[in-house]
Amino acid sequence: MKDTFKHKGLRQQLVNIIEAKGIKDPKVLKAIGKIPRHLFMDSSFLDHAYQDKAFPIAADQTISQPYTVAFQTELLKIKPGDKILEIGTGSGYQTAVLCELGAKVYSIERQNELFKKTSKFLPKLGYRAKKLVFGDGYLGLEEEAPFDGIIVTAGAPYVPKPLLSQLKIGGRLVIPVGDDIQVMTMFTRKGPKEYEQEEFGEFRFVPLLGDKN
Ligand code: SAM
Repeated sequence: MKDTFKHKGLRQQLVNIIEAKGIKDPKVLKAIGKIPRHLFMDSSFLDHAYQDKAFPIAADQTISQPYTVAFQTELLKIKPGDKILEIGTGSGYQTAVLCELGAKVYSIERQNELFKKTSKFLPKLGYRAKKLVFGDGYLGLEEEAPFDGIIVTAGAPYVPKPLLSQLKIGGRLVIPVGDDIQVMTMFTRKGPKEYEQEEFGEFRFVPLLGDKN
């Protein structure tokens, strides 16, 4: 599968669309303009790859809407070298965006099929996460903590405590919280036990899977 001038043109249109919706960070826009999203999708959805929409991937999961990916990434305010934990590797598209921003990326995926597929696929495009883990994102990744940022890419029914405690002081957790509809929520760690909480409107994600589902 190739990345052609046609794909590049469609990507620029997508960048224009998400910019018009309010994404401002030039580095985030540049990453969306560079990453060949069509290569992260199943062939039946290729024609739709540069629409600003979520689409199905394997294991009944989705590749997130580009606007949502950009919105969450912008909130993290990533600097090159930042240590970022992603919960929900999925297709690897968000992982690639984090790599483009110069982050050291750790990512956890709970579906083995996606974990295996994406672990093979990302290096082929030159995206080398520090660690891709098959596991349960509710637990975070204690052995690699603390993190400058943690991004959760599935709807969490509640805020898992390990994710808060695995932030550096000054670190940010960006997490959509809620059942059917989620509120994009950011926690900034201000001290060992102090967190500032901010909310950024409603979004819709597939659920963060727990022990029983
Ligand atoms: N970042 C992904 C992308 O760009 O394609 C988004 C994928 S999808 C919206 C959410 C992902 O979270 C799915 O791949 C799903 O399997 C994964 N997931 C759900 N529950 C999880 C859990 N408890 N721990 C880790 N990953 C989980």
